[in-house]
Amino acid sequence: MILSWLNDVTEGLQSFFTGMRTTGKFLVENLRDEGGAKAVTRQYPLHAAEVVGERQRGHLHNKADICIVCHACDTACPVDCFKMDGERDGNNKMRASRFDIDLSKCIYCGLCVRACPTDSLSMTADFQMDPRLDGERYLFRRNSSQLDVHLDAADVGRLQQLSRLPREQLSPADREWLDARIDVRGQHLIGMYGLGYFTPEEKAQADAEREAKKKAKDAAAAAAKAKAAAEAKTKAEAPSAGGPG
Ligand code: SF4
Ligand code: SF4
Repeated sequence: MILSWLNDVTEGLQSFFTGMRTTGKFLVENLRDEGGAKAVTRQYPLHAAEVVGERQRGHLHNKADICIVCHACDTACPVDCFKMDGERDGNNKMRASRFDIDLSKCIYCGLCVRACPTDSLSMTADFQMDPRLDGERYLFRRNSSQLDVHLDAADVGRLQQLSRLPREQLSPADREWLDARIDVRGQHLIGMYGLGYFTPEEKAQADAEREAKKKAKDAAAAAAKAKAAAEAKTKAEAPSAGGPG
C-alpha cells in the first residue's frame, strides 16, 4: 500500500519536472527573443507567423469587377455575413456597387467560395484581422449605425485614400467625413469590396446608353426581319424554273 503510494508520488513528480523543463526551455527562448520557428508561444502581433499553410482560410476577398451580384455566396453563408447591391451598367451587366463582408461574423467555412460561379470570391492567406496592420486597407471597422451608409464610387476612393493617411494629417473636414463612415472601435470588421453606387448623373448616363443600345439592337433585328420577309416574298413571286409557260 505504502509502496504503491510512493510509486504514484514519484511518477507525479517525474511528470511535473518533465513538463516544467519543457516550459522553462521555451520560456528562456522567448525571454531571449530566440523564439522564431522554435517557440511554441508567439508574442503576437510582435511575432506574427512568417509562414502560413497553403490551405489557410484567411480573409475573404472579392474581385468586384467580375462579381455578377448573383447572391449565391449570400445564400450559402450560414451566418449572414454578406450585404450586397447591384446596378446595371451601360452594357446591361450587373456591377457590385456594394459588396460588404462582415468578417467579425465569418466562421471561415468556405461555403461561399465554393458557391461562387465566377471565382470572384476567394480566401486569401491573410489572417491579420486588425485593420491597422493591413497595408491594403480594404478592411474597416464600423459601428452598427454606419453599416448602411451609402457610398458612391467617389466616396469609396476617398475612404480608401483618407484611411491610409495618419489621422493628424487630415483636415478637420476630412476627419469628420471619415468618422461618419468608419469607427476604429466599431464592433464590425467589414471587408468592403464594392465599386460604389452610381451617382444620379452616372445612373442616368448608364440608363441612356443601355436604352440606346437596346433601340439599336431592336432596329437591327427589325431590319433583318423585314429583309428576310422581302426575300421570301420575292422568292414566292418569281416564276419557278421548269414551270408552265
Ligand atoms: S466563409 Fe464566412 S462568409 Fe463565407 S459562407 Fe462561411 S461564414 Fe459565410
Ligand atoms: S461573389 Fe460570386 S457568388 Fe457572390 S454575388 Fe458575386 S458572383 Fe455571386
